[in-house]
Amino acid sequence: MNQQHDEYWMRHALGLARLAWEQGEVPVGAVLVQADRVIGEGWNRPIGQHDPTAHAEMMALRQGGKVLENYRLLNTTLYVTLEPCVMCAGAMVHSRITRLVYGAHDVKTGAAGSLLDVLGHPGMNHQVELHSGVLADECAAMLSDFFQMRREQKKALRQAQRQG
Ligand SMILES: [Zn+2]
Repeated sequence: MNQQHDEYWMRHALGLARLAWEQGEVPVGAVLVQADRVIGEGWNRPIGQHDPTAHAEMMALRQGGKVLENYRLLNTTLYVTLEPCVMCAGAMVHSRITRLVYGAHDVKTGAAGSLLDVLGHPGMNHQVELHSGVLADECAAMLSDFFQMRREQKKALRQAQRQG
């Protein structure tokens, strides 16, 4: 897999992250690809779905299982804009995806090397190939822009309340 190819699919994942943003969710997007075909798409939506497991990666993996009619997602690559959490990294091991490509690192909750290394744990019965840092700046900027926008919204709301 070449860098251009990875960037192409990461842009697709960034487009899905944008959908999360539009729905007021932390903008993370994921796309599951098999032989250059999209078999799963997801964007972060735990708030709207009232579902703590509704992370972008979980949605993409679930859809991929339905498309393949198999709980094993063999010969697939998952592209995610942000390093996965413990839950999603665990789901990747269960699903037997071949490869994970992610954009920005998540120093607080990342489970692919930052906080923990679930995927690289030597005792894991399935090893997922890992490639990180693809379009990392764009992926990180989408998150920091989102949080900055939310801070400004809260500040404006507080000011409006004081004036009212
Ligand atoms: Zn997650």
